Amino acid sequence: MKILTISHALPQARYQRCPQCDTLFSLPDVKSNESAHCPRCNARILNGRDWSMTRLTAMAVTMLLLMPFAFSESLVSIRLLGTNISATLIGGIYQMAQQGNVITASMVAFCTIGAPATLVASIAYLYFGKRLGMNLRPVLLMLERLKEWVMLDIYLVGIAVASIKVQDYASITPGPGLVAFISLAVLSLVTLIHMNIEQLWHRFYPQPQPQISPDRLRVCLSCHHTGLPDERGRCPRCHTPLRHRRRFSLQKSWAALIAAIVLLIPANLLPISVIYLNGARKEDTILSGILSLGSGNVPVAAVVFIASILVPFTKVIVLLTLLISIHFNCEQGLKTRIRLLRVVTWVGRWSMLDLFVISLTMSLVNRDQLLAFTMGPAAFYFGSSVILTILAVEWLDSRLLWDAHATGNADYTD
Ligand SMILES: [Zn+2]
Ligand SMILES: [Zn+2]
Repeated sequence: MKILTISHALPQARYQRCPQCDTLFSLPDVKSNESAHCPRCNARILNGRDWSMTRLTAMAVTMLLLMPFAFSESLVSIRLLGTNISATLIGGIYQMAQQGNVITASMVAFCTIGAPATLVASIAYLYFGKRLGMNLRPVLLMLERLKEWVMLDIYLVGIAVASIKVQDYASITPGPGLVAFISLAVLSLVTLIHMNIEQLWHRFYPQPQPQISPDRLRVCLSCHHTGLPDERGRCPRCHTPLRHRRRFSLQKSWAALIAAIVLLIPANLLPISVIYLNGARKEDTILSGILSLGSGNVPVAAVVFIASILVPFTKVIVLLTLLISIHFNCEQGLKTRIRLLRVVTWVGRWSMLDLFVISLTMSLVNRDQLLAFTMGPAAFYFGSSVILTILAVEWLDSRLLWDAHATGNADYTD
Protein backbone atom coordinates (compact mmCIF):
# COMPACT_ATOMS: atom_id res chain seq x y z
CA MET A 1 0.00 0.00 0.00
CA LYS A 2 1.31 3.42 -0.92
CA ILE A 3 0.35 6.50 1.05
CA LEU A 4 -0.13 9.53 -1.18
CA THR A 5 1.44 12.82 -0.36
CA ILE A 6 -0.10 16.25 -0.79
CA SER A 7 2.47 18.31 -2.62
CA HIS A 8 1.73 21.63 -4.24
CA ALA A 9 5.38 22.15 -5.14
CA LEU A 10 5.44 19.86 -8.17
CA PRO A 11 3.78 21.52 -11.18
CA GLN A 12 4.19 18.45 -13.42
CA ALA A 13 2.51 16.08 -10.96
CA ARG A 14 -0.69 14.28 -11.91
CA TYR A 15 -3.28 15.69 -9.54
CA GLN A 16 -6.23 13.75 -8.29
CA ARG A 17 -9.07 14.47 -5.91
CA CYS A 18 -10.43 11.64 -3.78
CA PRO A 19 -13.95 10.81 -5.04
CA GLN A 20 -14.99 9.91 -1.50
CA CYS A 21 -13.66 12.82 0.57
CA ASP A 22 -12.46 15.41 -2.00
CA THR A 23 -8.87 15.61 -0.71
CA LEU A 24 -6.40 16.85 -3.34
CA PHE A 25 -3.11 15.02 -3.79
CA SER A 26 -0.59 14.07 -6.46
CA LEU A 27 -0.57 10.51 -7.73
CA PRO A 28 2.51 8.31 -7.50
CA ASP A 29 3.30 5.58 -10.03
CA VAL A 30 1.82 2.31 -8.92
CA LYS A 31 3.28 -1.11 -9.75
CA SER A 32 1.09 -4.04 -10.73
CA ASN A 33 1.06 -5.54 -7.23
CA GLU A 34 0.44 -2.24 -5.44
CA SER A 35 -2.51 0.03 -4.84
CA ALA A 36 -2.70 3.68 -3.78
CA HIS A 37 -4.99 4.89 -1.01
CA CYS A 38 -6.34 8.32 -0.04
CA PRO A 39 -4.34 9.82 2.86
CA ARG A 40 -7.47 11.18 4.52
CA CYS A 41 -10.17 8.52 4.19
CA ASN A 42 -8.12 5.54 3.02
CA ALA A 43 -10.32 4.95 -0.05
CA ARG A 44 -8.54 3.02 -2.79
CA ILE A 45 -7.62 5.47 -5.55
CA LEU A 46 -5.38 3.46 -7.88
CA ASN A 47 -5.09 -0.23 -8.47
CA GLY A 48 -2.04 -1.67 -10.17
CA ARG A 49 -3.85 -4.75 -11.49
CA ASP A 50 -4.60 -4.26 -15.16
CA TRP A 51 -5.45 -6.72 -17.90
CA SER A 52 -5.20 -5.92 -21.61
CA MET A 53 -8.34 -5.78 -23.76
CA THR A 54 -7.20 -8.97 -25.54
CA ARG A 55 -7.04 -10.88 -22.30
CA LEU A 56 -10.39 -9.53 -21.11
CA THR A 57 -11.96 -10.46 -24.45
CA ALA A 58 -10.56 -14.01 -24.21
CA MET A 59 -12.19 -14.32 -20.78
CA ALA A 60 -15.48 -12.93 -22.11
CA VAL A 61 -15.54 -15.44 -24.98
CA THR A 62 -14.89 -18.35 -22.58
CA MET A 63 -17.67 -17.11 -20.29
CA LEU A 64 -20.04 -16.81 -23.26
CA LEU A 65 -19.35 -20.43 -24.24
CA LEU A 66 -19.92 -21.66 -20.67
CA MET A 67 -23.16 -19.73 -20.11
CA PRO A 68 -25.66 -22.00 -21.94
CA PHE A 69 -24.44 -25.04 -19.97
CA ALA A 70 -24.18 -23.23 -16.63
CA PHE A 71 -27.66 -21.71 -16.94
CA SER A 72 -29.71 -24.55 -18.42
CA GLU A 73 -27.96 -27.80 -17.42
CA SER A 74 -28.73 -29.58 -14.17
CA LEU A 75 -26.76 -28.16 -11.21
CA VAL A 76 -27.86 -30.69 -8.61
CA SER A 77 -30.43 -33.45 -8.73
CA ILE A 78 -32.34 -35.33 -6.05
CA ARG A 79 -34.24 -38.59 -5.97
CA LEU A 80 -37.57 -37.81 -4.40
CA LEU A 81 -40.51 -40.23 -4.07
CA GLY A 82 -39.17 -42.42 -6.86
CA THR A 83 -38.46 -39.69 -9.42
CA ASN A 84 -35.32 -37.86 -10.37
CA ILE A 85 -35.64 -34.08 -10.17
CA SER A 86 -32.84 -31.79 -11.25
CA ALA A 87 -32.48 -28.10 -10.55
CA THR A 88 -31.27 -25.64 -13.16
CA LEU A 89 -30.74 -21.91 -12.73
CA ILE A 90 -33.33 -21.04 -15.37
CA GLY A 91 -35.74 -23.66 -14.00
CA GLY A 92 -35.52 -22.13 -10.52
CA ILE A 93 -36.28 -18.65 -11.83
CA TYR A 94 -39.18 -20.04 -13.91
CA GLN A 95 -40.67 -21.79 -10.86
CA MET A 96 -40.35 -18.60 -8.87
CA ALA A 97 -42.13 -16.56 -11.56
CA GLN A 98 -44.90 -19.15 -11.86
CA GLN A 99 -45.64 -19.87 -8.21
CA GLY A 100 -44.37 -16.81 -6.50
CA ASN A 101 -43.78 -13.40 -7.81
CA VAL A 102 -42.53 -12.22 -11.18
CA ILE A 103 -40.69 -9.21 -9.70
CA THR A 104 -38.76 -11.36 -7.20
CA ALA A 105 -37.91 -13.80 -9.99
CA SER A 106 -36.64 -10.88 -12.09
CA MET A 107 -34.32 -9.81 -9.24
CA VAL A 108 -32.79 -13.31 -9.17
CA ALA A 109 -32.63 -13.40 -12.99
CA PHE A 110 -30.89 -10.01 -13.17
CA CYS A 111 -28.19 -10.86 -10.61
CA THR A 112 -27.42 -14.33 -12.00
CA ILE A 113 -28.07 -14.07 -15.77
CA GLY A 114 -28.61 -10.40 -16.72
CA ALA A 115 -25.55 -8.88 -15.04
CA PRO A 116 -23.02 -11.57 -16.13
CA ALA A 117 -24.39 -11.45 -19.71
CA THR A 118 -24.10 -7.65 -19.68
CA LEU A 119 -20.49 -7.97 -18.47
CA VAL A 120 -19.63 -10.25 -21.40
CA ALA A 121 -21.47 -8.03 -23.90
CA SER A 122 -19.75 -4.89 -22.55
CA ILE A 123 -16.25 -6.36 -22.94
CA ALA A 124 -17.11 -7.43 -26.49
CA TYR A 125 -18.48 -3.94 -27.22
CA LEU A 126 -15.28 -2.30 -25.94
CA TYR A 127 -13.13 -4.66 -28.02
CA PHE A 128 -14.98 -4.13 -31.30
CA GLY A 129 -16.23 -0.59 -30.60
CA LYS A 130 -12.69 0.66 -30.19
CA ARG A 131 -11.77 -0.66 -33.65
CA LEU A 132 -14.92 0.79 -35.22
CA GLY A 133 -14.51 4.16 -33.47
CA MET A 134 -17.78 3.92 -31.55
CA ASN A 135 -18.67 5.88 -28.39
CA LEU A 136 -17.39 3.74 -25.51
CA ARG A 137 -18.38 6.13 -22.70
CA PRO A 138 -21.82 4.68 -21.79
CA VAL A 139 -20.37 1.16 -21.54
CA LEU A 140 -17.42 2.26 -19.38
CA LEU A 141 -19.80 4.18 -17.09
CA MET A 142 -22.06 1.15 -16.76
CA LEU A 143 -19.22 -1.34 -16.14
CA GLU A 144 -18.20 0.46 -12.95
CA ARG A 145 -21.71 -0.01 -11.53
CA LEU A 146 -22.21 -3.51 -12.88
CA LYS A 147 -19.48 -5.05 -10.69
CA GLU A 148 -21.51 -5.57 -7.55
CA TRP A 149 -24.52 -6.99 -9.41
CA VAL A 150 -22.70 -10.01 -10.86
CA MET A 151 -23.64 -12.51 -8.15
CA LEU A 152 -22.58 -15.89 -9.55
CA ASP A 153 -20.29 -16.51 -6.54
CA ILE A 154 -23.22 -15.95 -4.17
CA TYR A 155 -25.44 -18.27 -6.20
CA LEU A 156 -22.74 -20.94 -5.90
CA VAL A 157 -22.92 -20.72 -2.10
CA GLY A 158 -26.72 -20.77 -2.54
CA ILE A 159 -26.43 -24.15 -4.30
CA ALA A 160 -24.49 -25.51 -1.31
CA VAL A 161 -26.99 -24.15 1.23
CA ALA A 162 -30.00 -25.45 -0.76
CA SER A 163 -28.37 -28.90 -1.03
CA ILE A 164 -27.85 -29.07 2.73
CA LYS A 165 -31.46 -27.95 3.35
CA VAL A 166 -32.94 -30.51 0.95
CA GLN A 167 -30.79 -33.35 2.35
CA ASP A 168 -33.44 -33.82 5.05
CA TYR A 169 -35.92 -35.02 2.44
CA ALA A 170 -33.82 -36.75 -0.21
CA SER A 171 -30.27 -37.66 -1.21
CA ILE A 172 -28.62 -35.17 -3.52
CA THR A 173 -26.09 -35.61 -6.37
CA PRO A 174 -24.18 -32.99 -8.38
CA GLY A 175 -25.35 -32.51 -11.98
CA PRO A 176 -23.36 -31.96 -15.19
CA GLY A 177 -24.08 -28.22 -15.24
CA LEU A 178 -22.32 -27.69 -11.90
CA VAL A 179 -18.80 -27.84 -13.39
CA ALA A 180 -19.75 -25.26 -16.02
CA PHE A 181 -21.35 -23.07 -13.36
CA ILE A 182 -18.33 -23.21 -11.01
CA SER A 183 -15.99 -22.36 -13.93
CA LEU A 184 -18.24 -19.46 -14.95
CA ALA A 185 -18.36 -18.11 -11.38
CA VAL A 186 -14.56 -18.31 -11.01
CA LEU A 187 -13.95 -16.69 -14.43
CA SER A 188 -16.35 -13.83 -13.69
CA LEU A 189 -14.65 -13.19 -10.33
CA VAL A 190 -11.15 -13.20 -11.86
CA THR A 191 -12.29 -10.91 -14.69
CA LEU A 192 -13.91 -8.43 -12.30
CA ILE A 193 -10.79 -8.38 -10.11
CA HIS A 194 -8.43 -7.75 -13.05
CA MET A 195 -10.58 -5.38 -15.07
CA ASN A 196 -9.22 -1.94 -14.17
CA ILE A 197 -11.85 0.53 -15.35
CA GLU A 198 -9.73 3.56 -14.39
CA GLN A 199 -6.99 2.25 -16.71
CA LEU A 200 -9.53 1.57 -19.49
CA TRP A 201 -10.72 5.19 -19.27
CA HIS A 202 -7.10 6.30 -19.37
CA ARG A 203 -6.40 4.18 -22.44
CA PHE A 204 -9.53 5.03 -24.46
CA TYR A 205 -9.91 8.69 -23.46
CA PRO A 206 -6.54 10.12 -22.35
CA GLN A 207 -6.83 13.61 -20.85
CA PRO A 208 -4.16 16.35 -20.67
CA GLN A 209 -3.27 17.66 -17.22
CA PRO A 210 -4.78 21.18 -17.05
CA GLN A 211 -2.17 23.86 -16.33
CA ILE A 212 -4.09 25.75 -13.66
CA SER A 213 -4.11 26.05 -9.91
CA PRO A 214 -4.92 22.54 -8.64
CA ASP A 215 -7.39 24.00 -6.12
CA ARG A 216 -9.85 24.60 -8.96
CA LEU A 217 -9.85 20.96 -10.04
CA ARG A 218 -12.97 18.88 -9.53
CA VAL A 219 -13.34 15.12 -9.41
CA CYS A 220 -15.96 13.34 -11.50
CA LEU A 221 -17.91 10.80 -9.43
CA SER A 222 -18.80 8.76 -12.53
CA CYS A 223 -15.34 8.13 -14.00
CA HIS A 224 -13.07 9.50 -11.21
CA HIS A 225 -11.29 11.91 -13.58
CA THR A 226 -9.92 15.03 -11.92
CA GLY A 227 -10.07 18.11 -14.12
CA LEU A 228 -12.01 21.19 -15.13
CA PRO A 229 -15.57 21.08 -16.51
CA ASP A 230 -15.80 21.67 -20.28
CA GLU A 231 -17.75 24.61 -21.76
CA ARG A 232 -21.02 22.75 -21.19
CA GLY A 233 -20.20 22.02 -17.53
CA ARG A 234 -19.51 18.35 -18.20
CA CYS A 235 -16.64 16.06 -17.26
CA PRO A 236 -14.27 16.21 -20.26
CA ARG A 237 -13.68 12.46 -20.11
CA CYS A 238 -17.10 10.83 -19.59
CA HIS A 239 -19.44 13.75 -20.46
CA THR A 240 -21.58 13.51 -17.33
CA PRO A 241 -22.32 16.87 -15.59
CA LEU A 242 -19.39 17.77 -13.31
CA ARG A 243 -20.81 19.29 -10.14
CA HIS A 244 -19.23 20.46 -6.93
CA ARG A 245 -21.42 17.99 -5.00
CA ARG A 246 -23.89 15.43 -6.37
CA ARG A 247 -27.36 16.92 -6.71
CA PHE A 248 -30.20 15.73 -4.41
CA SER A 249 -27.78 13.16 -2.97
CA LEU A 250 -29.18 13.37 0.57
CA GLN A 251 -32.83 13.38 -0.52
CA LYS A 252 -32.40 10.33 -2.75
CA SER A 253 -30.30 8.47 -0.21
CA TRP A 254 -32.81 9.17 2.60
CA ALA A 255 -35.73 8.08 0.40
CA ALA A 256 -34.08 4.77 -0.49
CA LEU A 257 -33.00 4.15 3.11
CA ILE A 258 -36.42 4.89 4.64
CA ALA A 259 -38.11 2.65 2.06
CA ALA A 260 -35.57 -0.10 2.84
CA ILE A 261 -36.26 0.17 6.60
CA VAL A 262 -40.04 0.02 6.05
CA LEU A 263 -39.67 -3.04 3.79
CA LEU A 264 -37.48 -4.83 6.34
CA ILE A 265 -40.49 -5.07 8.72
CA PRO A 266 -42.73 -7.29 6.51
CA ALA A 267 -39.57 -9.04 5.25
CA ASN A 268 -38.86 -10.33 8.76
CA LEU A 269 -42.43 -10.79 10.08
CA LEU A 270 -44.11 -12.50 7.12
CA PRO A 271 -43.23 -16.05 6.02
CA ILE A 272 -40.43 -16.23 3.45
CA SER A 273 -40.97 -19.90 2.58
CA VAL A 274 -43.87 -22.34 2.82
CA ILE A 275 -43.47 -26.13 2.87
CA TYR A 276 -46.36 -28.53 2.23
CA LEU A 277 -45.54 -31.90 3.75
CA ASN A 278 -48.29 -34.57 3.36
CA GLY A 279 -50.94 -31.89 3.10
CA ALA A 280 -49.78 -29.99 6.19
CA ARG A 281 -48.65 -26.39 5.67
CA LYS A 282 -45.54 -25.14 7.50
CA GLU A 283 -44.51 -21.51 7.21
CA ASP A 284 -41.03 -20.17 7.96
CA THR A 285 -39.93 -16.59 8.52
CA ILE A 286 -36.29 -15.66 7.87
CA LEU A 287 -35.44 -16.19 11.55
CA SER A 288 -37.38 -19.44 12.09
CA GLY A 289 -35.83 -20.83 8.90
CA ILE A 290 -32.35 -20.10 10.27
CA LEU A 291 -33.25 -21.64 13.65
CA SER A 292 -34.48 -24.87 12.06
CA LEU A 293 -31.37 -24.95 9.85
CA GLY A 294 -29.23 -24.37 12.96
CA SER A 295 -30.55 -27.49 14.67
CA GLY A 296 -28.93 -29.57 11.92
CA ASN A 297 -25.98 -27.60 10.63
CA VAL A 298 -24.65 -24.68 12.65
CA PRO A 299 -22.02 -23.27 10.17
CA VAL A 300 -24.57 -23.08 7.32
CA ALA A 301 -27.13 -21.47 9.63
CA ALA A 302 -24.45 -18.94 10.63
CA VAL A 303 -23.77 -18.05 6.97
CA VAL A 304 -27.48 -17.51 6.28
CA PHE A 305 -27.84 -15.52 9.53
CA ILE A 306 -24.98 -13.18 8.60
CA ALA A 307 -26.26 -12.72 5.04
CA SER A 308 -29.98 -12.33 5.78
CA ILE A 309 -30.16 -10.65 9.20
CA LEU A 310 -26.84 -9.30 10.48
CA VAL A 311 -25.66 -7.56 7.29
CA PRO A 312 -28.97 -5.87 6.24
CA PHE A 313 -29.60 -4.51 9.76
CA THR A 314 -25.98 -3.34 10.27
CA LYS A 315 -26.00 -1.66 6.88
CA VAL A 316 -29.25 0.19 7.63
CA ILE A 317 -28.01 1.32 11.08
CA VAL A 318 -24.61 2.52 9.77
CA LEU A 319 -26.23 4.39 6.88
CA LEU A 320 -28.75 5.96 9.26
CA THR A 321 -26.04 7.27 11.62
CA LEU A 322 -24.01 8.61 8.66
CA LEU A 323 -26.98 10.47 7.15
CA ILE A 324 -27.98 11.89 10.54
CA SER A 325 -24.39 13.00 11.20
CA ILE A 326 -24.42 15.08 8.00
CA HIS A 327 -27.47 16.99 9.28
CA PHE A 328 -26.11 17.48 12.80
CA ASN A 329 -22.40 17.89 11.88
CA CYS A 330 -21.53 15.13 14.29
CA GLU A 331 -18.01 13.94 13.70
CA GLN A 332 -17.47 11.31 16.41
CA GLY A 333 -15.96 8.18 14.94
CA LEU A 334 -16.48 9.28 11.34
CA LYS A 335 -13.54 7.24 10.08
CA THR A 336 -14.72 4.14 11.91
CA ARG A 337 -18.26 4.50 10.58
CA ILE A 338 -17.02 5.02 7.01
CA ARG A 339 -14.82 1.96 7.33
CA LEU A 340 -17.81 0.02 8.64
CA LEU A 341 -19.93 1.30 5.73
CA ARG A 342 -17.30 0.05 3.28
CA VAL A 343 -17.34 -3.39 4.90
CA VAL A 344 -21.14 -3.70 4.92
CA THR A 345 -21.31 -2.37 1.35
CA TRP A 346 -18.80 -5.00 0.33
CA VAL A 347 -20.72 -7.82 2.00
CA GLY A 348 -24.17 -6.32 1.33
CA ARG A 349 -24.67 -8.15 -1.94
CA TRP A 350 -24.49 -11.46 -0.01
CA SER A 351 -27.96 -10.68 1.34
CA MET A 352 -29.40 -11.98 -1.92
CA LEU A 353 -28.27 -15.47 -0.83
CA ASP A 354 -31.61 -16.38 0.75
CA LEU A 355 -33.54 -15.59 -2.45
CA PHE A 356 -31.18 -17.79 -4.49
CA VAL A 357 -31.62 -20.66 -2.01
CA ILE A 358 -35.42 -20.30 -2.21
CA SER A 359 -35.38 -20.26 -6.00
CA LEU A 360 -33.28 -23.46 -6.14
CA THR A 361 -35.26 -25.26 -3.46
CA MET A 362 -38.51 -24.40 -5.27
CA SER A 363 -37.34 -26.13 -8.42
CA LEU A 364 -36.10 -29.18 -6.50
CA VAL A 365 -38.87 -29.83 -4.00
CA ASN A 366 -42.07 -29.65 -6.00
CA ARG A 367 -44.23 -32.76 -5.77
CA ASP A 368 -47.72 -31.22 -5.60
CA GLN A 369 -49.64 -32.35 -2.51
CA LEU A 370 -47.07 -34.72 -1.03
CA LEU A 371 -44.12 -32.39 -0.65
CA ALA A 372 -43.88 -28.89 -2.05
CA PHE A 373 -41.84 -25.81 -1.32
CA THR A 374 -42.95 -22.33 -2.34
CA MET A 375 -41.95 -18.76 -1.67
CA GLY A 376 -43.74 -16.62 0.95
CA PRO A 377 -44.63 -12.93 0.58
CA ALA A 378 -41.56 -11.81 2.60
CA ALA A 379 -39.20 -12.74 -0.23
CA PHE A 380 -40.35 -9.80 -2.35
CA TYR A 381 -40.03 -7.31 0.54
CA PHE A 382 -36.62 -8.69 1.48
CA GLY A 383 -35.21 -8.54 -2.06
CA SER A 384 -36.52 -5.00 -2.58
CA SER A 385 -35.02 -3.89 0.73
CA VAL A 386 -31.59 -5.29 -0.19
CA ILE A 387 -31.65 -3.53 -3.57
CA LEU A 388 -32.75 -0.24 -1.98
CA THR A 389 -29.87 -0.28 0.53
CA ILE A 390 -27.41 -0.85 -2.36
CA LEU A 391 -28.94 2.20 -4.10
CA ALA A 392 -28.89 4.30 -0.90
CA VAL A 393 -25.11 3.82 -0.65
CA GLU A 394 -24.69 4.45 -4.39
CA TRP A 395 -26.61 7.74 -4.24
CA LEU A 396 -24.87 9.11 -1.12
CA ASP A 397 -22.16 11.62 -2.02
CA SER A 398 -19.77 10.71 0.81
CA ARG A 399 -17.88 14.00 0.37
CA LEU A 400 -20.80 15.61 2.26
CA LEU A 401 -19.69 13.74 5.39
CA TRP A 402 -16.21 15.24 5.17
CA ASP A 403 -17.62 18.70 4.38
CA ALA A 404 -19.58 18.61 7.63
CA HIS A 405 -16.44 17.39 9.37
CA ALA A 406 -14.16 20.11 7.93
CA THR A 407 -16.31 23.22 8.18
CA GLY A 408 -18.85 22.24 10.81
CA ASN A 409 -21.41 23.42 8.29
CA ALA A 410 -22.88 21.07 5.71
CA ASP A 411 -23.30 22.68 2.31
CA TYR A 412 -25.09 20.27 0.05
CA THR A 413 -26.09 22.48 -2.83
CA ASP A 414 -24.49 22.48 -6.25
ZN1 LIG B 1 -10.43 10.26 0.52
ZN1 LIG C 1 -16.15 11.76 -15.73
